[in-house]
Amino acid sequence: RLKEGRALVEDVWSIFGAANLPTDCISLGQGYMNFAPPKWITDAAKEALDKIATNHYSPPRGLLRLREALKQHYGSQLNRDLDVKSEILVTSGADQGQYSVCTAFVEPGDEVILFEPFFDPYLRWVTFNGGKAVFVALHPPADTIEKPSSHDWTIDLEELRAAITPRTKMIIVNTPHNPVGKVFTKDELIAIAALAEQFNLLVMSDEVYDCLVFDGKEHVRIASLPGMWDRTVTVGSAGKSFAATGWRVGWLIGPKHILQPTLSASTRIVFCANSPLQEAAAAGLELARTNLFFETQRQEYTERRAVLCEAFDRLGLKYSLPEGSYFVLLDVSRVQMPENYSFPDSLIGRGRDFRVGWFMANTIGVSALPISEFYSEEHAKIGEAFIRFAFCKDLDLLRNAAERLQNLRK
Ligand code: GLN
Repeated sequence: RLKEGRALVEDVWSIFGAANLPTDCISLGQGYMNFAPPKWITDAAKEALDKIATNHYSPPRGLLRLREALKQHYGSQLNRDLDVKSEILVTSGADQGQYSVCTAFVEPGDEVILFEPFFDPYLRWVTFNGGKAVFVALHPPADTIEKPSSHDWTIDLEELRAAITPRTKMIIVNTPHNPVGKVFTKDELIAIAALAEQFNLLVMSDEVYDCLVFDGKEHVRIASLPGMWDRTVTVGSAGKSFAATGWRVGWLIGPKHILQPTLSASTRIVFCANSPLQEAAAAGLELARTNLFFETQRQEYTERRAVLCEAFDRLGLKYSLPEGSYFVLLDVSRVQMPENYSFPDSLIGRGRDFRVGWFMANTIGVSALPISEFYSEEHAKIGEAFIRFAFCKDLDLLRNAAERLQNLRK
């Protein structure tokens, strides 16, 4: 199935990876931080390396200390006394966890619903396991909206209902949403939940940006809605929570009948996640209970978001102010490029957003991510209007990027 269509060609992360961009380019493409995780977490990681046991395999479900910390962290939000033996599974990053859910549940021919645009690996997790992805639009803000928010990207429930067939197995929900930054409202999630119940569907809810929700917005876990625990797996990530994207420690929270088959898959894929950084993630969650880390981090991200968005305001370009995550979508349909500009072969057949992204990285010195790859091939045109900027960077770098961006022409 790797041979199908775009799965085989170079992916957006590689084309816009640092190796292909000018060395002095400021990378606001791939979402990783240019600052360290908090010292009290890296210290915990170093201490973990000094213990013999944490240099060796952990239980495939994850280190008990981390599962205990997750039980505390999620228990109150889900209003459940989580069972660390069956309802929490630690994985090598949220991606591997979600791939394992698909491996455990998606049978050849099963359909999985994705809201489009979608974080691009979702599509491959489904198709690599023999499933078929079915796309439901997150409709972009109407042109008439002067200052759009990620909230103005909307779902049409009738379209969602119409996408469900007897072969539908699962809906993938992503809130806060990558790349849009949308935080799904309780009402939207209630409506999705009602359809999942009516048609007996699983829900995989990717909530890796759950601690990055701004302006007093509420992050609602779909698993916490009445009747949803039994059909939902909630996904989280140490990388996003603690500014440590390279640690590859993630987790799944859900009922035993979902996590047991997923564990069977996960054990055969990686056996267990790396042990020392599970210790550190556990220490992080334990300490964050008292040191207000998540509140402080939210504040810092609010400032970072402002630096970037003010630069777009000065340019007079439209963007969707994100309610959550660390991404902003900028509408680049009015950005001008010289007609004779020459692009590399890797961009042949790709959308205008790839060209804008490439041009910007190579002339302005700021890279961002083209978004058409977050769409199905049928709908890629819609994505060509946008590129995604990551603001998980320190203020100095963002201010520098903001200055360079003033050189864009429209
Ligand atoms: N989730 C991160 C992003 O969207 C990184 C993903 C990746 O590198 N594949 O930028």
